[in-house]
Amino acid sequence: MVEKLPKAPTGKGPAEWFTGEVWFDQICRGEEPSRVRVNSVHFAPGARTAWHKHAVGQTLHVTEGVGLVQARGGELIVMRPGDTVHTPPGEWHWHGATPDHFMTHLAIWEGTGDDPETTWGEHVTDEEH
Ligand code: MN
Repeated sequence: MVEKLPKAPTGKGPAEWFTGEVWFDQICRGEEPSRVRVNSVHFAPGARTAWHKHAVGQTLHVTEGVGLVQARGGELIVMRPGDTVHTPPGEWHWHGATPDHFMTHLAIWEGTGDDPETTWGEHVTDEEH
């Protein structure tokens, strides 16, 4: 049956995984055998994820604002609305808003059963950002 899904309350990004104000809306959470996950993630200016990696990779699609993404040892990449960025499985990276703009992106990834979907590391310092 085609149905309009109930809307889960907006969640706050926990301080151990994020710096600054980050809020997310769950858009899609597949039921097995689907493992698709889609969140719309809202970053206040300067807010960003900690360093982390995804077991099966992640796709980011920017819908608003100006964002940044960086892989470990890689250059800082600016993301604007309409841009799509892929982070490969197991690659350490972070993403977030620039210091003076909001940013919203869709985050698309997959569950991994009993294994962690995402592994979290240290926070991104102001110098790195
Ligand atoms: Mn990520």
